[in-house]
Amino acid sequence: MKKFELKEFNGKMGEIDRDWYDFSPFECMDCKNSEGFQTKIFLINKIPKSKDEESELKRILLERGIKEYGIFSSNKPLILSAICQKCGSDNIFWDFKKK
Ligand SMILES: [Zn+2]
Repeated sequence: MKKFELKEFNGKMGEIDRDWYDFSPFECMDCKNSEGFQTKIFLINKIPKSKDEESELKRILLERGIKEYGIFSSNKPLILSAICQKCGSDNIFWDFKKK
């Protein structure tokens, strides 16, 4: 199977779909904190399609210290992860910023 390739998103315009620019950590599910999240966004070359691929991706992300994450498949699939600076949880609810 094709290997996963991950690249950390560094904020460069055009690398992710514009729709995602307003998507950000909204609330910590553990302590209800709603500010000061440490966010990591990765660009990924493919979406896991089997249990094997899911565990492979999980392993790759664990190596980077990421336990909880969301995968979003748009034109350019993304992996989003955030850590609550208050309680250290990575169980974070994401939402689109209100305009
Ligand atoms: Zn928290």
